[in-house]
Parts: sequence; C-alpha cells; structure tokens
Amino acid sequence: MDKITTEKLNTPADYLTIRCPQCLKLYMVQEEQIRTVYPEFTCTGCQCHFAFEYPVPNRDSILTFQIAPTQFEFKKKCPKCDFLQSEKNEICSACGIVIENFLLLKNETYPRVSVDLIKLWNDVLQEFENGYAHELFISQCRSKQKLDYAEFKYKELGKRAGDESMVSPWLEKINPEKYDPNYAKNIVDEQIAHATTPTAEPVPKFIYRVSAIYSYLVKHNWFYLIGTLAGILLIVMGISTPGMRNQIGLGIALLLSSMGFYVFRNNPQQKK
Ligand SMILES: [Zn+2]
Ligand SMILES: [Zn+2]
Repeated sequence: MDKITTEKLNTPADYLTIRCPQCLKLYMVQEEQIRTVYPEFTCTGCQCHFAFEYPVPNRDSILTFQIAPTQFEFKKKCPKCDFLQSEKNEICSACGIVIENFLLLKNETYPRVSVDLIKLWNDVLQEFENGYAHELFISQCRSKQKLDYAEFKYKELGKRAGDESMVSPWLEKINPEKYDPNYAKNIVDEQIAHATTPTAEPVPKFIYRVSAIYSYLVKHNWFYLIGTLAGILLIVMGISTPGMRNQIGLGIALLLSSMGFYVFRNNPQQKK
C-alpha cells in the first residue's frame, strides 16, 4: 500500500493527524513546525519514509505517500564553515555550531549580547502590537542589566522607521528619567503634594461626600421639596401652637423662597 488517508480524530486545532502509509502508525504534527510544502517523516514503527502535501486540501483526510529517503531533502551551507548539509540540521554536522544562534549573533549590530535577548527582540518585532512581548523583552534586559541593549534597539528602530513616537512609550519605560518629559515635573509635583498636605486625606473624603449628597439633592429638586415641606410644617406649628406664632413668618419665607428658586431653576428664561 502506497497511499493512506486519515479519518477525523479528536485532534487539537493546530495539529494535523497523519498515518504512516505502510504500517498505519498514527502521528500528530504541529502545523507551526511545518516549514516546507512536502513535510517529510521517517516512521519510527517501520522505518519507511513518507511525506504529504502541505497545506492540506482536507484536514480530516490527509493523504500521505511513501518517498525515497532523500527525495525532498534540500541542502544548505553552514554559515560558519560552509559545509553542505541537510536543510533540517539545526547544528552543523562539521563544526558543531547552532546555526540559528550563529546567524542571530552575526546579524546583531549590538556588541556582546546574549542570544536569548536577541530572540526576545525578534519576538517584539514580529508582534509589535503585543504589549506583552515588549514587557518581557524589557524586563529580561533589566534583570540581565542589559537595558542599554533595549534602549539601543528601540532607538535604532525609531530611526529606521522615521517615527520616534512609535518607540517613545517603551523608551520611557526603559529610562523614564531620560525619555519621559513629565518625569521631573511629576517628581516635583509629588514632593509638593507630600509637603503641603500631609493630613489631607480625611478632609477631601468628607467634602466629597457632602458635595455628592448636595448635588444629588439639587439634581432631583429635593432641596425645594424639603424647603417647601419645612415651610409648611413651620406654618402649621405656628398656627397650632400659641407660643410659636413667629414661626409662621419664617415658614412663609422658606416656602416662598423654595418655590421661587424652583421656578427660577426650571424655567430660567421666564425671568426676563
Ligand atoms: Zn510505518
Ligand atoms: Zn559548520
């Protein structure tokens, strides 16, 4: 049997399920690991070589086919010693360097920086909108005392893009003293705030509460209603209790002023 397809299985979304075309052994392949249009495998069960076409026309039924072992193998040169070898080699089989790391360091313009920081910076470039990539890169640079590298890379990027504003929030994070225009001002403001109002805390809270109640009452016309009710109460008390006659006048004044304010507030243009 030369060709075989796979049935639908419970596979994670970013994996492909394939079977060895000879012994039917099942494999799961992570899609992001696939780098060529003919991903090539050696079956661990029967040692046969097989491949499939990628991207696949139907994820639920992937056709695999047997190939000769070197049929699709591409060759590449080691960037250091020029030794010609399989494209899949991550470590040069002649000189032993890690090829990816060698290339990263070779292309890095900044001197003496570790490969993992270069990789983190590449992540930043690949996902510039992703704030987390920036945070991770900057915090790793900080913990390795390599913030000078972070600063250098952001400045270089801003210059190359011709737009400093895209990198300035990150430069401010790296060195606020140097890049944040409000940094000195904020410090001074903070010092002034601490110096002049050391016990200011409870007062604004109290004022805030009173003013919140006040604005609520004003907004819902409660003041006029309370004023009106209090006025009526004073008048009634003044009439019914002989010793409190003088409260009638106060009651009338309160009643009239409440109503007057109410009319004025709700129909201000009628005043003319
Ligand atoms: Zn097999
Ligand atoms: Zn080499």
